[in-house]
Amino acid sequence: MCEIKEVVRKIKDCDAILIGASNGFSIAEGLNLFADNQDFEDLFGDFKRKYGLRCILHGMGAMWPNEREKWAFWSKLIYNYCIKYKKTKTMEDLRAIVSDKDYFVVTSNGEGHFQMGGFEESKVFEIEGKWLGMVCEKHCHKKVYSNVDIVKKIMDRHSQGKEIGDLIPVCQKCGAEMAIDMEFGLNALSCNEKRKNYYEFIEKYHNKKIVVLELGIGFRNQLIKAPFMDIVEREKNATYITINLGEVYIRESIKEKSFGLDGYIEDILGEIREEFNKR
Ligand SMILES: [Zn+2]
Repeated sequence: MCEIKEVVRKIKDCDAILIGASNGFSIAEGLNLFADNQDFEDLFGDFKRKYGLRCILHGMGAMWPNEREKWAFWSKLIYNYCIKYKKTKTMEDLRAIVSDKDYFVVTSNGEGHFQMGGFEESKVFEIEGKWLGMVCEKHCHKKVYSNVDIVKKIMDRHSQGKEIGDLIPVCQKCGAEMAIDMEFGLNALSCNEKRKNYYEFIEKYHNKKIVVLELGIGFRNQLIKAPFMDIVEREKNATYITINLGEVYIRESIKEKSFGLDGYIEDILGEIREEFNKR
């Protein structure tokens, strides 16, 4: 496909890459938050029958009867999709394409896969918070704590069929319950610092050759897609590349500096990497 050749040329020639990723990218990695599929049944079949849970996303926003059930759900989710995460070929392809260019990632995916896939923590802005962070539910102080140790302990107890009640974390300052830093949407505490890094990145590459690479973001998305298209419109040397399955949308005003690649993200990234290695 000659479009792929042109895309690779733009990527190799640019000063920096701004990556945006949403659910479509997670799905390409095998994590579908919306599906009541076999993975969901295997992992959360008990929650499905007990609480009528329809998919992972439903569980992430559920009103649990108590903290014990909430932590049982989140621990299973975090343990299986973060702690046990193994870098996928899709993630490897993406990291290889970025190569030694400067980059920044903006994503609504909170599972930390980019960091585990070789992207630097300070360059990944998870706009809706992250699964691996926990904060005081009352936000009495602003610190984001790791929940990895607690999750591992809860899963260990769970595997022995024992109670987890005494493992439920509370705020060390005020005694309130702890929330996953994903329960507040755009008010997630982990976002503050990253937002600043994002603006600095945009500022740094003003007037430079920037490639905006968008992966699996719905055409109506206002949080990542719309602002990304604004950047491309504003920046005269920007190139916009959007990869999506059946939902490629490019604003009329930026069409001449854009590429819309319709298809499976995992296939297209693979093709781009192959072409990338040829030259
Ligand atoms: Zn507190």
